[in-house]
Amino acid sequence: MNYGLYIHIPFCVKKCIYCDFLSFNSCDIHEKDKYKYFHALEEDWYTKLNIFNPGDHIDSIYIGGGTPSLVDPFYIDTLLRVIKSDIYVTKNAEITIEVNPGTVDIDKLEKYVSSGINRISIGVQSTQDRLLRSLGRIHNASDCEETFKMAKEAGFRNISCDLILGIPQIKNEPGQTFEELCEDVENVLKWGARHISVYSIIIEEGTPLCELFERNKAFEIDDDLERKMYRAVSSLAKEYYLSQYEISNYARSDTKSAHNMKYWKCLPYIGLGLGAASYYPADKKKPQGDYIRSSNTRIITDYNEFYFKGESEIISVEEQMNEYMMLGFRKISGPDGRVFKKRFGCYYHDKFKDKLEMLASKGLITFNENARLTKKGLDFANEVFREFV
Ligand code: SF4
Repeated sequence: MNYGLYIHIPFCVKKCIYCDFLSFNSCDIHEKDKYKYFHALEEDWYTKLNIFNPGDHIDSIYIGGGTPSLVDPFYIDTLLRVIKSDIYVTKNAEITIEVNPGTVDIDKLEKYVSSGINRISIGVQSTQDRLLRSLGRIHNASDCEETFKMAKEAGFRNISCDLILGIPQIKNEPGQTFEELCEDVENVLKWGARHISVYSIIIEEGTPLCELFERNKAFEIDDDLERKMYRAVSSLAKEYYLSQYEISNYARSDTKSAHNMKYWKCLPYIGLGLGAASYYPADKKKPQGDYIRSSNTRIITDYNEFYFKGESEIISVEEQMNEYMMLGFRKISGPDGRVFKKRFGCYYHDKFKDKLEMLASKGLITFNENARLTKKGLDFANEVFREFV
């Protein structure tokens, strides 16, 4: 069985105003705590080794955060060496690191390459200084371009950029315009991005941005404008030979995110680090049976003391079928009927006949060999997902 491995690094220079990820302002964390954290990551890895069967491999690693590029690359290199000494990481495994502009230099990027990291995901978010400021990002637009250039110079060929769509009006700063979003997409594509992720901003409870909304100091952009922006991304990406392969992701045929594809295909993965989730067969000898979804503690002091345990639940085969559909519909190609049959012993067309026909009658999905979202379905995807929760 091939597994994906996610490694969470929860440190950031400072929190962005919209962020509810599990990450901390670095000024609140001492270097010795970072050292402790990496020590705990190794220990976390050892405790999870018993999940694997002899002969299991890892074929994708994703180092995310937080801001993984904030820590000394030596920590990351050491951890990757430990992992590779315990399990076979396939030769062509995709190994990604997330970096934020303003936290890397050429030396760091070259060290990533020497550690075997072959894909980089840059948190650009916008190429408009005014919007980066209003989101509380630590970098400006020229830092983004500089980071991209350095990544290429260091030897990265597979570079992805994250962008945000629908940035609201924040205090007196007007919201993102259609032209600005298009310019953002074109800029990163001109730099040479082989993959882009364009996420609509979500106003998460408890964030400073949410508080600004509650105090009427921030206002969402118009819904129609947001949808117009969403559709424009796909057309712009096409001009640079990237096609949409997931609701928010665009790539060439050979640069789709192998790691994220595992999530959308319900394949097994192991998570290391604070709050990191894992998903794997409950019984090693029965890979077609129940699965376990577990997550590590979200309390860093516990984690650093090697108390990793968080929540855990059994996912029955019936639940896996539903999840397969829900996550599969995120892919533009839809859930794969043949893979479904191989894994669960039946066709989803039969298993979910009534639901699929109902969704098709509303114009939200269409059938060829596989079921997939229509253009309308892309705008109302949550209505489709809800059927499989
Ligand atoms: S850099 Fe990313 S993880 Fe860190 S605070 Fe900003 S959005 Fe959150």
